[in-house]
Amino acid sequence: MDRMPPKARMGRELPPTAGLPLTWGDYVRQPGQSFAGGLGQWPGLSDPLVTCSGTAALVVVLKTLRQRRPDRNAVIIPAYNCPLLPLATRLVPGLRAIVCDTVCSGIDLDPQQLDSLCDARTLAVIPTHLGGRVADVQAARAVAARCGAFVIEDAAQALGAFAEDRQSVGLGGDAGFFSLAAGKGLTTYEGGILVSRDAQLRAELAAVARETLRPHLGWTLRRNLELLGYGLFYTPSGLRLAYGHNLRKKLAAGDEAAAVGDVFTLADMPLHSLDALRLRVAANGLARLPAHLEEGRRLAGHRRGQLAALPGVAVIGDRLGTEGIWPFFMVLMPGKEQRDRALHALWRTGNGVSKLFVHALPDYAFLAPILAGHDLPDCPNARDLADRMLTVSNTPWLDEATFTLIMHTLRSSL
Ligand SMILES: *Cc1c(COP(=O)(O)O)cnc(C)c1O
Repeated sequence: MDRMPPKARMGRELPPTAGLPLTWGDYVRQPGQSFAGGLGQWPGLSDPLVTCSGTAALVVVLKTLRQRRPDRNAVIIPAYNCPLLPLATRLVPGLRAIVCDTVCSGIDLDPQQLDSLCDARTLAVIPTHLGGRVADVQAARAVAARCGAFVIEDAAQALGAFAEDRQSVGLGGDAGFFSLAAGKGLTTYEGGILVSRDAQLRAELAAVARETLRPHLGWTLRRNLELLGYGLFYTPSGLRLAYGHNLRKKLAAGDEAAAVGDVFTLADMPLHSLDALRLRVAANGLARLPAHLEEGRRLAGHRRGQLAALPGVAVIGDRLGTEGIWPFFMVLMPGKEQRDRALHALWRTGNGVSKLFVHALPDYAFLAPILAGHDLPDCPNARDLADRMLTVSNTPWLDEATFTLIMHTLRSSL
């Protein structure tokens, strides 16, 4: 069997997700409208709050909801998700994170387990639009409503995705947030957006944001330098140095979680305000985002079907009537063995094939102190995602010849 990994073209490294590249003009051009004003043009996103990260946006929501309901302290999150979610609960005194399994081969919260976890202590439930897909918020909402819990949409990876009502994701629950971290599409290196349809709640969120996220010179300087680095190195040749080299070093050391960037501490979650220069860059980038996302949908239009036509392979998609974005494909291989074989051949080659999260949340050692202290429900479906999923980048830099090579390797790994 052919096990020769396809090598990226000399000196090139493709990013695992289709981030929006910056231009020098983004720094100097006076944007046609402010970042918040530009977002306000998207269906439903009027009056967004801009934060220093998606995590910070979540912290603001949790603090606000906790003020409303100090009698409730549990936050329920999908067991296959970003480790920053349970960590964020640590920044709000008294809160605890509880994981809930996902549905079989999907990203939605398992409604039955969710129902059994929800009780009078549940403050909020967080359905997550993972990988640009549109999660079933209404299903989570129906269960949450039975115990009086709030619903917060984690749309960190889904800016530009639309729910059934043709409105942006993020508006189907009580509040929603997006991430502007590097690699998630539009970026300020770190940044976030917080939205809510409820005007009263929006005012409360704004007040908590004002007091929680204050200007900080050190972080402002650091993030601006980091964004400058992103602007310079987010190219197929720059990524080799800025991303690929480190990735291969960590994989060689056997540290997959570090390779994926899954390991965080509270020090990775500063709370401060977002500065004017980065807001300008974001406002200018936002003007190019719709075309970038359209290009991604067009590319995904043919590639998704090819991936899903491999025997026993599935690609996680959207429910009828919704329209997600396609930063990458979440590819489910028939089993862990096949997935590991494919990644062994592809992960180091610089062709944009990776893992989304290395583990289900209960299996990260550094989260043990946070998720312990209550009976962990079993999460076989989330663990199955961690075992069988690999991601294929949908960056426009991934050309047809490289995609064909990836297809070939996936086929020979089956
Ligand atoms: C990145 C991410 C977050 C956190 O967003 P930051 O901007 O990095 O703080 C939350 N949830 C998901 C699903 C993410 O991918």
